[in-house]
Amino acid sequence: MTGKATTIGVLAVQGDYEAHSAAFAELGMATCPVKTVEDLAGVTALVMPGGESTAMLRLLKRSGLDASLREFVRKQPVFATCAGCILLARQVLHPEQESFAALDVTVERNAYGRQNESAICMVETTLPGGDLEAVFIRAPRIQQMGPSVEALAWRDGFPVLVRQGGILAATFHPELASDRRIHQLFLQMVETNLQQNTSNFRA
Ligand code: GLN
Repeated sequence: MTGKATTIGVLAVQGDYEAHSAAFAELGMATCPVKTVEDLAGVTALVMPGGESTAMLRLLKRSGLDASLREFVRKQPVFATCAGCILLARQVLHPEQESFAALDVTVERNAYGRQNESAICMVETTLPGGDLEAVFIRAPRIQQMGPSVEALAWRDGFPVLVRQGGILAATFHPELASDRRIHQLFLQMVETNLQQNTSNFRA
């Protein structure tokens, strides 16, 4: 478990943020909603949920949270799912959209045709425990990724779960399945980050 200094915030301006809080609660980790600049200042790690990335961007600008978020995602651990992954991507296509550009991937929004808009699939993963159940809802597809990005799961050969430094991002919705391996992995990443920061501080 993570230490006392950890506070996980869940960005709560739009989308399925409550499902993430419930998933962490299952693992014994409390979270707090982040709606303002002050809320963000009080957390050490952040979840950016799925929803509608265009609507999220608009709301983030309106609240003034976008500037602080842009800084936060470059320094602190972040777990982004679906629309959250779109917001973090270096480049967004279909249509083009601005983003925080902290994750070195190109994503194509709504990349699975109408027939396949939403799907539940088993995806291949390098996480211990075998294939993962993945819920895709009007999901983006990661078309390209930079050398510092590691893929941890794939659908049809395209990465669907990636990690780059303190960022973990999924194009699907792990919070809507019952498998908690991905939320667990993020807690481990947060803990590692905390230990590193503490040892830097002591050095
Ligand atoms: N299609 C949405 C977007 O482009 C993302 C969908 C989701 O988060 N489930 O923002």
